[in-house]
Amino acid sequence: MCNGFVFVPLLELRLFDYYPTMMTKTRYRYNLILTILLLTGFIFTSWFSLIIAKQSLFQGIENDALPLTSHLIHTDLQKQLQAPIIISSQMANNTFLHAWLKEKNENKQVLFEYLRQTRSDYDAVTSFLVTSDDKTYYRYDGQVTQLDTSVQQDSWYQETLGNTHAYTLNVDLDPRDDHQAIVFVNHKIQPQEQVLGIIGVGVKLDHLKRLIDKYQHIYNRKVYFVDHKGRLLFYTDSTFTDDTITDKFGRHSTKLLNQKNYKLRLEQDEQTVFINSRYLEQFGWYLVVEQTLTQDNSFSDTLYINLLMGVVITAVILFSAQLTFNHYQKRLEKMATYDKLTSTYNRQAFEPLLQAQLYKARNQFTPLVMLILDVDHFKQVNDRHGHLVGDKVLAHVAQICKTGVGTRGFTCRWGGEEFVILLPKTTLSKGHEIANQIHETLAQSQCEVTVTASIGIAQYHIDESEDGLLKRADAALYKAKSTGRNRSVLAEAA
Ligand code: GH3
Ligand code: MG
Ligand code: MG
Repeated sequence: MCNGFVFVPLLELRLFDYYPTMMTKTRYRYNLILTILLLTGFIFTSWFSLIIAKQSLFQGIENDALPLTSHLIHTDLQKQLQAPIIISSQMANNTFLHAWLKEKNENKQVLFEYLRQTRSDYDAVTSFLVTSDDKTYYRYDGQVTQLDTSVQQDSWYQETLGNTHAYTLNVDLDPRDDHQAIVFVNHKIQPQEQVLGIIGVGVKLDHLKRLIDKYQHIYNRKVYFVDHKGRLLFYTDSTFTDDTITDKFGRHSTKLLNQKNYKLRLEQDEQTVFINSRYLEQFGWYLVVEQTLTQDNSFSDTLYINLLMGVVITAVILFSAQLTFNHYQKRLEKMATYDKLTSTYNRQAFEPLLQAQLYKARNQFTPLVMLILDVDHFKQVNDRHGHLVGDKVLAHVAQICKTGVGTRGFTCRWGGEEFVILLPKTTLSKGHEIANQIHETLAQSQCEVTVTASIGIAQYHIDESEDGLLKRADAALYKAKSTGRNRSVLAEAA
């Protein structure tokens, strides 16, 4: 570069300073759309995943957790009853007993001994025998009573006789043992056609109780039994207003009692109650497993965390978008403002600037001078030394103009090898001085080719149009060319 040319914009002007609202508006719109899109996306996905999570949790409870609990308890119950059923069956098939019954109960002590022995061998709560002819109830401890089949308490006897199965199960509360549930296995003694009596044992469902307690405490699931009338069995809970499920379950209680398996979801006092019921045929009871989900804040907390993350990510994206936007805006502004070869303002940037400066001069009554500079015989430079040298010379001339103008004004490449220099708040004599200084510097400067320039100088008149000023300056330039070049000529007064 000629004379170690370094581009330093002396007076910073950005084209977009003249169109700030346009750029800002575009940017605001872009930011707004981006923010809306991102936030909507985040809100939607957070909300959607929250609903999905909630649904899968609910479905997990309804379809897996509760049925599994119910199944485990049922299986456990059946397992616990296996031993007493087998024992009762063995008792019913005991030939000694058949003989004893046929001998019309002669030696009662032998029977009691047998019942006592069976009871202690199998760790049962009780063992008993009822004879079918006189309905006498023999208990292991020697107690002998008469059954009254007309009362509810002894109705199990008829039920067992009428049942097609060899045995029935009957659950009763033992008043001597804190009303613990005792399951009685009532097995028919039927060596041939005729039923000779009913024999069996009564066992406590200790293990089952422990299992139920475990489910209640560890998994926070309630487990209870309901009879065919909807009455709760051995269970007290404040959520039931009375001892039936009717109040709590409402219209669902009838559905529950009519179906072998029933699922129910109740929304009560900001709580979701999941209920699973299964009919236990052996008992004629419904096993109900219940789980309550308090609508705690864990779901909304997750939602807020997701949304917060969304806001942070949106902010980061917006920030990086701004950086990219700024970067490209600066490049665009530079491209749209400066001439690439000479780094002076291009015409597109200069025109609004010229208008603004003329407006200021008019309104503030300040002087303004315009210089039009044209390199002399530049075509010859190109022809003799080539375009590349021509380019270097142009850049060199532009640099001299800018240095001469300094911070006082603006230099624009008007086209080809022609420059317009605008000097606001400058008198005609000062403008003339600057023009002469440019001539001098050009003459003294070192470049591959030394060139001269002709300059037309015009002072702006308050009533004059932009075109009028340019025309007068151009006419002065023409005069400088026609009167020998390498000189400055003052334009005629407007
Ligand atoms: P005058 O003294 O009358 O101004 O003569 P001149 O040769 O300078 O004027 P003319 O208008 O005949 O030629 C101007 C030349 O400038 C023609 C054109 O090829 C050359 N030119 C315009 N822009 C560029 C440019 O960007 N680079 C180079 N190397 N040459 C350019
Ligand atoms: Mg020209
Ligand atoms: Mg020329």
